[in-house]
Amino acid sequence: MSLDMHSDTHMHSTYSDGSTTIAAMAEAAFKKGFTTIAITDHVPLPFDTRYAMKMEQMAAYRKEIGRVNQIYEGRMAVKTGLEIEYIPEHKDWLASIASMDWDLTIASVHTLVVGSTPCLVNGNGTEFHTCLGKNFNHDITALCRAYYQTLQEAVQTGWFDIVGHLDVLKKYNTDNQFFNETDTWYQELVEDALDVIRDQKMKLEINMGAMAHPIGIPYPSPWIVKTAQKKGIALVMGSDAHRPEAIGQDFDRIQDMLT
Ligand SMILES: [Zn+2]
Ligand SMILES: [Zn+2]
Repeated sequence: MSLDMHSDTHMHSTYSDGSTTIAAMAEAAFKKGFTTIAITDHVPLPFDTRYAMKMEQMAAYRKEIGRVNQIYEGRMAVKTGLEIEYIPEHKDWLASIASMDWDLTIASVHTLVVGSTPCLVNGNGTEFHTCLGKNFNHDITALCRAYYQTLQEAVQTGWFDIVGHLDVLKKYNTDNQFFNETDTWYQELVEDALDVIRDQKMKLEINMGAMAHPIGIPYPSPWIVKTAQKKGIALVMGSDAHRPEAIGQDFDRIQDMLT
């Protein structure tokens, strides 16, 4: 298995919900020995959130990554990336942003819309319970189906390079309290998603930021990573760092999990 441990393709700055500047994130990554990083702040959205970049910040964001990349020229590549949260209801808005010139785009699903009511699957615990209860009438199967359906739609747009935190919907599924990943219905959802990712020739992120979440294992789970490898899907490492200390965190733990 070839996994580039000197690349971290997923991190945030104060342009979205990160704790510090692009320059400070890059400096921390360089000191940790990375040779490639991507700054991937949250795509602007046409409604208020606590985490997304503002549309009017985007030009400055792109310019700043370019400036920082020049500082490390020949030593570390700093890629102009974006974590694009795919919401089918806002496809036109997102398409215009995705079509800009990016080094690297991540496809993520955070929000599911039922009727006209959006909910976050990977927000805080209360938000997840509200999502499951109010939007999906406590039907976890329906929530999982809606999530993977939205992810498949994202992949099929062809806009993206990498699938981010593939199974982030398990964030609060400690002790299998909501569903069991060994259930056939769930494994079929994952298999179908992987097939579409393979067909689109997209890469799959191993998101180690999950280690600090309640679930405490990577996104996606090791069995999913192994299945993806069998399908020939390329893998990349991402920390989803929102602060400098988290860059590359727990990258050294993945190999053991996959053996
Ligand atoms: Zn995300
Ligand atoms: Zn992220």
